[in-house]
Amino acid sequence: MAKKQFKAESKRLLEMMIHSIYTQKEIFLRELISNASDASDKSYYNALMSGSGLDRERYEIHIAADKEARTLTLSDRGIGMSREELEKNLGTIAESGSLKFKAEQEEKEGVDIIGQFGVGFYSAFMVADEITVVSLKEGEEQAYCWNSKGSDGYTIKEAEKGESGTTIILHIKENTETDSYDEFLEEYHLVELVKKYSDFIKYPITMERTKSRKKEGSEEYEQYTEKETLNSRVPLWKKAKKDLSKEDYENFYRAQRYGYDTPSKVIHNQVEGNLTYTALLYIPSAAPFDFYTKDFKKGLALYSNGVMIMEKCADLLPDYFGFVQGLVDSADLSLNISRELLQQDHQLKAISKNLTKTIRKELLSLLEKDRDEYIKFFEAFGRTLKYGLYSDWGMNRETLQDLILFRSSANEGYTALKEYTDRMPEDQKFIYYGTGESRAKILATPAAEGVLAKGYEILCFTEDVDEFAIKMLGGYAEKEFKNITDADLGFEAEEAPAEEHQELMKKIKEALGEKVSEVKVSARLVSHPACLSSKGAISIEMEKVLSAAPDGGNAKAEKVLEINPNHPLFSQLEQADDSRLATLSEVLFNQALLIEGLPIDDPVAYSNAIWKLLEK
Ligand code: ADP
Repeated sequence: MAKKQFKAESKRLLEMMIHSIYTQKEIFLRELISNASDASDKSYYNALMSGSGLDRERYEIHIAADKEARTLTLSDRGIGMSREELEKNLGTIAESGSLKFKAEQEEKEGVDIIGQFGVGFYSAFMVADEITVVSLKEGEEQAYCWNSKGSDGYTIKEAEKGESGTTIILHIKENTETDSYDEFLEEYHLVELVKKYSDFIKYPITMERTKSRKKEGSEEYEQYTEKETLNSRVPLWKKAKKDLSKEDYENFYRAQRYGYDTPSKVIHNQVEGNLTYTALLYIPSAAPFDFYTKDFKKGLALYSNGVMIMEKCADLLPDYFGFVQGLVDSADLSLNISRELLQQDHQLKAISKNLTKTIRKELLSLLEKDRDEYIKFFEAFGRTLKYGLYSDWGMNRETLQDLILFRSSANEGYTALKEYTDRMPEDQKFIYYGTGESRAKILATPAAEGVLAKGYEILCFTEDVDEFAIKMLGGYAEKEFKNITDADLGFEAEEAPAEEHQELMKKIKEALGEKVSEVKVSARLVSHPACLSSKGAISIEMEKVLSAAPDGGNAKAEKVLEINPNHPLFSQLEQADDSRLATLSEVLFNQALLIEGLPIDDPVAYSNAIWKLLEK
């Protein structure tokens, strides 16, 4: 029979896997056991729904090693796979994006692709040179056998199998000079691996164990085998917190494929009272590769008394905490509840509200107690929190405003809003912020100079979303936010500018026409000759963001050209005749645009103006 080819992407991934230098090859067992457990969950759930009253004990996951044949066999009595499912699930890796990312990651870091992404079934190719999967889908008559020796393809043909479920036979690789594979055929080692990674799996993981005993009526020993259950089977979240180590929680995190990073925080809450539930939540320290794409599905697994009802229940988490992974188990939830009804379920709503509070509290405590870890988290997910502030018209401000951080002029690190306001001198009216590509660039602008000279701190907004999010906040601790390029900074010169200065400003405004809405003597500039500020709701930075958006091209900031009366150039302006003043105005305005990172409307006119000045 002709071999079918893996989809191009799967093939590349398989090759990576086969030649993997990933040291923790052993995780393949955890991946296969987790798959078997999921398949058993699905079957059990179906049985409950159809009322056929199946016994949970039938869902055994059996492991058998045969050293002679070099095979390791895993059998489950789960839901099984049809021919189409074998093809779809084991012949392809759906998201091309993820693979591209994996390849890039591999080039960058050299190792640990599998460790980071846990590509499930495929990880078995790290230890096996041939894999056979025999599966009978529940409710079907015909079983199928899938076989592959690696990246050159796979075959599927009809097979004999009496009972529904899946049997996976791995032909374990021969030892090489650098790698040993024999251990994956050793009974004691397999027992260790099951205990280490899969202890909490709720179905029995069994194996025939070799034991020895005295022969009856004799002093001689004989060997015999006996089936043993290797795992303790208590779901991790049902164990007492005091009996669980950091490692237990982290192993569970990986076994559930929540992520392959080390989570920043684990929250394990057993809540009793009006609302009874257990939540096991993880705050990851790194964003999954697809987190900022629409492929990402937020949600927590939902259990009713240990039985999984839903793999990803989105309603349990608000979008801005969509990065949280984990599960909720509540006896109060009805098993029979349909997905549509679940959305309206008030128990679920109450739990979700509680979880939101808990997550906020835990994040705040992380920020307080382990700032470095919080920053790691924030660098991965801060954007989501800021989008959370921006969406829903600032409804989530109470939840989120103390969780966001910005760079600031005060120090090299991050600053929370509360830290900023705590540091504010008495006479400071506003919370000042500047926008730009980086902290260094913002602090080097003419607009920043005057604010810093006053001794006021500046928050540096370096992400598109920052200023929009802050607009939704309105203020913090009763102080309003103020862009440093705002025409009114709240500390304008006390004295009105001299009459003749006013006259000069009028002339410059005339020369520039509609390009600016006002020209004024600046109270903020220190060493720069001129700068742009803005009046009204749209700041210069917002104009930049909006003009990059497909339909926002017409939004313009109302620009004010500010001129520094203490700069040597000022006297030149005063002395210039009308034609020279027009040239100087053109140059000043365009330079202010450049400093703000805005495009120059007419580069030819600008460059002609410069030539004209240089000729003199
Ligand atoms: P993942 O489990 O992350 O989806 P895998 O590559 O491990 O990725 O498995 C792909 C799919 O194959 C699973 O989602 C499941 O539908 C199916 N599958 C794998 N192992 C089994 C099994 N033992 N029984 C039934 N289905 C399975």
